[in-house]
Amino acid sequence: MDKKVSLFKNTGILYIVPTPIGNLSDITYRALETLKEVNLIACENIQHTNILLKHFNIKNTLISFSKDNEVQKTDHLINILKKGKYIALVSNAGTPVINDPGYLLIKKCHLFNIKIIPLPGPCAAITALSASGISTHRFCYEGFLPSKKKLRRDLLCSLKKEKRTIICYESKHRIIETIKDIINEIGENRHIVIAREITKKWEIIHGNKASLMLSWIKSDVNRHKKGENVIIIDGYKELKSINPSDKIINTFTILKKFLSLKQSVFITSKIHKINKNNLYQYAIKNKEK
Ligand code: SAM
Repeated sequence: MDKKVSLFKNTGILYIVPTPIGNLSDITYRALETLKEVNLIACENIQHTNILLKHFNIKNTLISFSKDNEVQKTDHLINILKKGKYIALVSNAGTPVINDPGYLLIKKCHLFNIKIIPLPGPCAAITALSASGISTHRFCYEGFLPSKKKLRRDLLCSLKKEKRTIICYESKHRIIETIKDIINEIGENRHIVIAREITKKWEIIHGNKASLMLSWIKSDVNRHKKGENVIIIDGYKELKSINPSDKIINTFTILKKFLSLKQSVFITSKIHKINKNNLYQYAIKNKEK
């Protein structure tokens, strides 16, 4: 990239440059090249980005661009871009704009026809999802859940029947409260995965049903209240209503005379190789009949 030659007629370029979420080796060649070559780096925290640049022996001009000064600094950066300069946008970690400052700047670049070049790179949400073992086919990203209890519970309640995999960011201070809220609003049996400190020394990716995840965290609160977390919540699974065959009903009815409902469902489903949850739903529905 040659910063002296603008590729876009009369305006500069805004590069969106992801940075590592823990392991500095995750920086890309292209990110390093861009950070070296641009006229200016707009960063969330100057000290933080200076550490990154120093590590890679890069010298460049930094300007603060945080959520506290985003509004004023956006106009300033747009004026610089209009003069044909190249700017790299970085956040403290991961992909800028994803729960990080920059949305307004990107929006204004579109408004003023300023070219934007996004670089692919680290993002905690996608990295966690890829390792979660939960369906990646369709997912929704919720960012940080609300810090206020009532709002958080309302949001989780509204997500109870969301069929897509749900990705949330959560701080170490609220992780226990949030898991409790997931249990209350979505259900104790819903499968969730916590991906903590991804790419770092104490990385851990662990999943189970929500109630067991709470016990897991409570078993070592000090350890679990450290670090950064992504929570992946399995999507809602609609139980298909089934009409079991006479053979299945016969087996179940006989077993039910001697065993509990749960045991009868379990053994019937094993004998006939059918889904136990579906049979359980059927048995509950027809209990009074
Ligand atoms: N833009 C960033 C990205 O692309 O992932 C996200 C920024 S957001 C302010 C920071 C949150 O991302 C953390 O509170 C945590 O939930 C999540 N996060 C960032 N790094 C992480 C890591 N190494 N392991 C787990 N979660 C991480």
